[in-house]
Amino acid sequence: MGVLPEWCPTYSSRKKDPVTGEEVFCICKKPDSGELMVGCDGCDDWFHFSCLKIPQKFNELVFSFFCPYCQCGITGPGASSGNLPKTLWRRKCRLPECYKPCAENSKYCSEDHAVSYMCNLIGRVESKGFDAQDVLRQMLQNSDLEKFQKMGHEGVPTPPEGLAPGLFEGDARLRDLESQADKIRTLTRPEIEQQLKKLEAYVAWVKRVNHLLFTSASEDQDGGSSSKNSRALKRKKKSTKPKSICGYHPELRIVCSAEEFAPQYNESEIELYSVCCKLRCPRHLDWAGIQETSLRFQLETLESSLERLALLQKIREDQLKMQVYKELSKSKQA
Ligand SMILES: [Zn+2]
Ligand SMILES: [Zn+2]
Ligand SMILES: [Zn+2]
Ligand SMILES: [Zn+2]
Repeated sequence: MGVLPEWCPTYSSRKKDPVTGEEVFCICKKPDSGELMVGCDGCDDWFHFSCLKIPQKFNELVFSFFCPYCQCGITGPGASSGNLPKTLWRRKCRLPECYKPCAENSKYCSEDHAVSYMCNLIGRVESKGFDAQDVLRQMLQNSDLEKFQKMGHEGVPTPPEGLAPGLFEGDARLRDLESQADKIRTLTRPEIEQQLKKLEAYVAWVKRVNHLLFTSASEDQDGGSSSKNSRALKRKKKSTKPKSICGYHPELRIVCSAEEFAPQYNESEIELYSVCCKLRCPRHLDWAGIQETSLRFQLETLESSLERLALLQKIREDQLKMQVYKELSKSKQA
């Protein structure tokens, strides 16, 4: 059995007032006076919010309520099963002053409040000088980011043309965000794409060298014929791992054509033109795969940077739009 909260009187099964005969409820054993009450899912009694020390504004957030006696196992399902029930609450709307439950698959009770939340956020970024990137990082951690973004963006409509000409053009913050995104698009990303191409070409060169070095001429000729015999032979050869040189070059520079390179190779050398020639090289194990993975990862990172910058731009644009509306409302009041 659980422990009753300090403020809760010991249980009484009394249902009627001994003097007036009126039906009584709650831990206070008083009749219904019209005050806000909640029904217990365990014992079917009703309880005053005030008696339970639950703020009335939580009214809509109760999902499944159990009174203190049921939570203790004095009454309700816990009394027989020993599994003490607990009051369950709906998730509250994210807007601090709103105590409505969240709509399905949302962190807000309504689109209106998602928009208000976004506007508050923008306001906070503006007034407290928060790093917009920090705010963004927080937002990215939300699973419903897309919805949030959409809601928020719809929230600040673009001021009519002519009301604020050059609104976005003159803003240094926007310029900065745009130039960051531009740099990625025109410089950083092409650079990495270039490196990927270089790597591909170099890997192809190493393959060609290995082919020239370790594929016998007879096998090469057999490759074209489709007789059952030669196919069986090929399969046999493939099952034993073919010889190959490591091929790693620190700058991935193709020093000469594979046809020139291959004849200069001899098995005693471990390096030729800075190309690693070891047959089994633990030092550069899977160098091509590792480099490719790293470059592709860099590309992905850039893509998410671009997405982040686009989102920051949207936030900034919304800020600017809001400023226009604020100015407007001021001039109207004056
Ligand atoms: Zn009461
Ligand atoms: Zn109860
Ligand atoms: Zn709300
Ligand atoms: Zn090597």
